Amino acid sequence: MSRFLNGKYSQLQPYVPGEQPQDRSYIKLNTNESPYPASDAVLEALCSAEISKLNLYSDPTADLLIKALAEEYGLAPGQVFAGNGSDEVLAFAFQAFCDEGKGMACPEIGYGFYPVFCSLLGIEFLPVALNDDFTIDISRFKGLTQNITIANPNAQTGLYMPISDIESLLCENPDRLIIIDEAYCGFGGASALHLLESYDNLVIVGTMSKSRQLAGARVGYAFASEAIIGDLNKIKYSFNPYNLNRLSILAGVAALKDKEYFQTTSRLIIETREYTKEKLKELGFEVTDSAANFVLASLKGISGKQLYQSLKQRGVLVRFLKDEKLKSWVRITIGSRAQMNTLLGLLMQIKEETGL
Ligand SMILES: *Cc1c(COP(=O)(O)O)cnc(C)c1O
Repeated sequence: MSRFLNGKYSQLQPYVPGEQPQDRSYIKLNTNESPYPASDAVLEALCSAEISKLNLYSDPTADLLIKALAEEYGLAPGQVFAGNGSDEVLAFAFQAFCDEGKGMACPEIGYGFYPVFCSLLGIEFLPVALNDDFTIDISRFKGLTQNITIANPNAQTGLYMPISDIESLLCENPDRLIIIDEAYCGFGGASALHLLESYDNLVIVGTMSKSRQLAGARVGYAFASEAIIGDLNKIKYSFNPYNLNRLSILAGVAALKDKEYFQTTSRLIIETREYTKEKLKELGFEVTDSAANFVLASLKGISGKQLYQSLKQRGVLVRFLKDEKLKSWVRITIGSRAQMNTLLGLLMQIKEETGL
């Protein structure tokens, strides 16, 4: 830390992204990326004229992308916001709708960035306890004053919360903003999108990083009332009007339009996820009933950290999460069928070697 750092950031603990080691090639099952490449349509779009226009700023309204999202999801363009990854969209929303007096309540196990945004922005973060089986008990969000952010399916656990629970939250808390982070919605869980018609306190956040093969292009978005989208634009135009670059706008549009590829890859990941769950259970693992592109898994007798380390030595990266309640778990991204078979083979080896 230099002596110039603003004192209010001296205690800031930044988010720790999953490792992206460059030292050797790993089977990467640690950051919930897609094992499949971006659609050919994306590659074609990127090879087209845009590269010759990199001397010019991108369109600050990201008009092409906003219109494509509006069309795909049946909304008016004024109900759509786009950002440099959904992390940016979430940060803008926390900044726009929380303050010293209005904090953010989130499930205690969830996306690790939420508490970091709060700490960066000077917002109170309130973790709300989960049930022992990691499901969300919405009654624990009752009677609070904070806004609410919940990932659905939930980050880290993969568990899907029924839309009726989201509707209860919206209905019971008309003066609190409810942000539903649908980063993992492309893998079987339904979206709460249709509730936008009835509730003006709902924000849906989405990303092309997980189910549309564009983690490296950084394309995220939000759907909400026109008034809320106007507020998000106010923050964006006060911070970084060209938040989406030329290439990412085009990549996002092309990925959205290639519905067939989206459906095919999502189906493959769902099938591989269900296969992986079964095989892990056969090996004696406890596995969450995830509706996302990852599962949490734990094996009696070995800690999450040990499992993570043993797999890393053997060339497979999974995620060990520092959360106290996840000590015995690792989070495994669903890769291709071949990658999962390699993983399963190594787990069997580790089991035998450790006598478990
Ligand atoms: C991965 C993830 C994000 C961030 O996605 P980007 O669009 O890549 O910034 C947001 N929310 C959750 C729950 C995630 O898992």
